Amino acid sequence: MGVVFKGIQSLGGNGVKGFHCIQCLSFISSSDLFLKLNGAQRHSFVNPEGIYCEFYSFLSCPGAVPHGRDTEQDSWFPGYAWTPAFCVFCGNHLGWHYRAVSVTSRPMEFWGILMDQVSVR
Ligand SMILES: [Zn+2]
Repeated sequence: MGVVFKGIQSLGGNGVKGFHCIQCLSFISSSDLFLKLNGAQRHSFVNPEGIYCEFYSFLSCPGAVPHGRDTEQDSWFPGYAWTPAFCVFCGNHLGWHYRAVSVTSRPMEFWGILMDQVSVR
């Protein structure tokens, strides 16, 4: 019994989940890179266009790249400027990159990745 349980644990990589782009299935990030903001790594906001957005916050996102000029306008996280973030491999819009406006803020940066743009494995 103990051996079987051990096997199942190692299959799951100790519970670490990979997040993959829904368009090209490339690796974007994993659950051990989650960043808790206000006590949670899952967030939901309504954007200025009235669209409901659910996303995860990550400290690092190896498969995503920010593109464009960052702005503090309508930022969901005061003190952080945002830039749209895209899949490095196929250009799919995954969410946003956030950068601290003040050099003394921690974290210096993080990522918001839309739940409906990634598949979890
Ligand atoms: Zn992709």
